[in-house]
Amino acid sequence: MDYVTLETDEFVYGVGDEILPGVSRVIAENPSKFTYRGTGTYIIGGGQDVAVIDPGPILPSHREALAGALTGRTVRAILVTHCHADHSPLAAWLRDETGAPTYAYGPHGAATVEWDIGALPDDFGRPEPTDVADDEPTGPDEPKLEESTDTAFVPDVEVRSGDVVFTDTAISVAALHTPGHTSNHSCFAMTSSAGGRILFTGDHVMGWSTTVVAPPDGDMGAYMNSLRMVAGRRDDVAVPTHGSPIERPGRFVGDLVDHRLERERQVLDAVRRGLDTIPDIVEDLYVDVRVELHRPAGSSVLGHLVKLVSDGIVVVDGSSAADSASDASPASVPRLDSNYLPV
Ligand SMILES: [Zn+2]
Repeated sequence: MDYVTLETDEFVYGVGDEILPGVSRVIAENPSKFTYRGTGTYIIGGGQDVAVIDPGPILPSHREALAGALTGRTVRAILVTHCHADHSPLAAWLRDETGAPTYAYGPHGAATVEWDIGALPDDFGRPEPTDVADDEPTGPDEPKLEESTDTAFVPDVEVRSGDVVFTDTAISVAALHTPGHTSNHSCFAMTSSAGGRILFTGDHVMGWSTTVVAPPDGDMGAYMNSLRMVAGRRDDVAVPTHGSPIERPGRFVGDLVDHRLERERQVLDAVRRGLDTIPDIVEDLYVDVRVELHRPAGSSVLGHLVKLVSDGIVVVDGSSAADSASDASPASVPRLDSNYLPV
């Protein structure tokens, strides 16, 4: 898969930069394993009125940069893809400054799974303190660390797919619910009178890394369905929060689906070979990946296992799912023993 990265993309922190007609980006100076070069906040609209997508983290330099980039403009809408801490917290300040309402699918979800297949032990995959600098980007195809959540965020307007959230004389922007990375994740689809279609993808599709899908709020089945839905659209460009715009995103996103299916096949194969703890599966599948990335890899494996159990392909010993599935085809269904999974 070809990944577009900001390595080839000129930018300066704190300066609004028009990356596409009617679309400016301000990158927050919060580079990390979580965010690559930082959170990209987008200002969209060709005239006086604008909408802002994902105001970003609480960071004085970013707040000042946004204030500067918005000088002389009128913010009509604040659009939030989801409420991880690098996306939504500055929305409260921008709302107070401008009076513009916030739009999102909803607050952070309270999703749970019906059965317990354990959590990773605290020390699993933790790097030695000196192994990697905190601000070192991890590069393509390496999962990020888990993200923190802005549980205080509650949108003024809850939006569903197709709801129009901003218009001006030249463009129209509609919400597109894309659950998976989080249950409340939305993309925002912009169409212009000139015919261009731009999809702002938040963390659903990223320009530099695979997306973390960590249960219980992250849902791999929902994520893959949302990827397929986006792959089937006819957008000209996908614009992620982290990383550069992606042209012809349909093919790119189709490749992401294939990547997830291949990983799911590998996880199932590991279970069939008798690996029945997440650390064992991670150490088998991610043997070439640095150990400090094994913890987020464990979240990804857990995400695949939740989907495989939900699909009835893998069962957890001692769960009601195991009881019902074992009646159907006890010899062919791989089992995970919940007693062996780390708690
Ligand atoms: Zn996120």
